[in-house]
Amino acid sequence: MKMYFNEEHKLFREGFRSFLQKEAVPHIEKWEETGTIDRFIWEKFGEMGYFGINYPEEYGGMNLDLFYTVVFLEELQRIHSGGFAAAMWAHAYLAMTHLNAEGSEAIKQKYLRQSIEGKMIGCLCISEPFAGSDVAGMKTTAIKKGDKYILNGSKIFITNGVYSDYLIVAAKTDPDQRHKGMSIFLVDRDMPGVSANKLDKLGWRASDTGDIAFDDVEVPEENLMGAEGKGFGYIMQHFALERLIMGINAHARAEYALEYTMKYMSERKAFGKHLNEFQVLRHKVAQMASQVEVNKVFNYNITYRLDNGDYVVKEASMSKLLSTKMADEVIYECLQLLGGYGYMEEYPLARLLRDSRLGPIGGGTSEILCEIIAKMVLDNKVYEKAAH
Ligand SMILES: Cc1cc2nc3c(=O)[nH]c(=O)nc-3n(C[C@H](O)[C@H](O)[C@H](O)COP(=O)(O)OP(=O)(O)OC[C@H]3O[C@@H](n4cnc5c(N)ncnc54)[C@H](O)[C@@H]3O)c2cc1C
Repeated sequence: MKMYFNEEHKLFREGFRSFLQKEAVPHIEKWEETGTIDRFIWEKFGEMGYFGINYPEEYGGMNLDLFYTVVFLEELQRIHSGGFAAAMWAHAYLAMTHLNAEGSEAIKQKYLRQSIEGKMIGCLCISEPFAGSDVAGMKTTAIKKGDKYILNGSKIFITNGVYSDYLIVAAKTDPDQRHKGMSIFLVDRDMPGVSANKLDKLGWRASDTGDIAFDDVEVPEENLMGAEGKGFGYIMQHFALERLIMGINAHARAEYALEYTMKYMSERKAFGKHLNEFQVLRHKVAQMASQVEVNKVFNYNITYRLDNGDYVVKEASMSKLLSTKMADEVIYECLQLLGGYGYMEEYPLARLLRDSRLGPIGGGTSEILCEIIAKMVLDNKVYEKAAH
């Protein structure tokens, strides 16, 4: 993969891998059990600059190419907690992407800088109880009153939704409109009228997924991000990166599952032979290795194009659609290859299977991705970048 990764990427990977082993891995089981990630690890990520790899130097970032982000994502998939990984990338690439793209200078100086430093944690609030896939159907409103917007409504399934310090919130500034009536706001956790509950869920157990209510929250007008009424375009634009991220996560966890399984097969014996000597199992591994490789190379290609300014909506949708399906299938099959041990919590496959299942749901379901892709390939629909 020399065409995508150079010696510096390699060194970055080695450094980040050993950082995770030393600082995060000893605490993962506790975080999975409590559903709470200790604050110190956010600060350590910040101190090391890991939240800033993709952000401008003027706010404390490193402004590095997107392949550093690929390394960041891939390594996070290898430490046995999809929930911890999700908490980190949702902060760095969901909340912070909006801060960087639409935040005013004052917002960036305060929130982006402190997010990069790991002193503030963010979340992105789009989904609602009655509007998940149908983003434009959201009911949360932000009605202008003097120099404030009055925010009312609720959000659901928000990653980092309980323990984050600020929330990037999509709301209708013109409730009579669908797409055109939506705007984005920065909301502080401690603004009166903001409340949140933690949800119990199948996987991603280290991550706090929140159900959030806004009750007459007074949001200062300077917390409007970008232009009023342009929120839907901003959200859709950033979905290209978000969906590619979820595709990359998927190929990385499938690769990790397969690596683990191949090692297991080389050690475990049945009928006097190692598992990796049975032809039927060897063929399964060959199929899986091929699928992982094809998805990985596709995802790297899209990363390269996105990094070079292409608006890769179609390809990023394809990436998430295919890679998340592939990961679920590979992990399911790998668990099978561990026999009863695959079903045990002591081995990584059980958690991987649970964590992976979110892939085809979060950030746009597979059905919605098919809708987007179908419109682009069948109806020649073209999606344009939103103007700022
Ligand atoms: C653990 C977790 C973390 C999440 N994190 C975040 C977050 O940080 N921020 C955030 O904003 N959201 C987040 N989400 C929400 C996620 O993006 C939504 O769950 C997802 O978009 C689907 O919305 P929904 O759950 O309301 O399903 P629905 O929209 O109710 O869909 C239900 C089913 O119907 C299908 N369907 C709907 N419409 C169509 C159609 N037109 N054609 C065909 N099929 C259709 C869907 O594909 C799905 O299978 C998270 C969700 C989970 C579970």
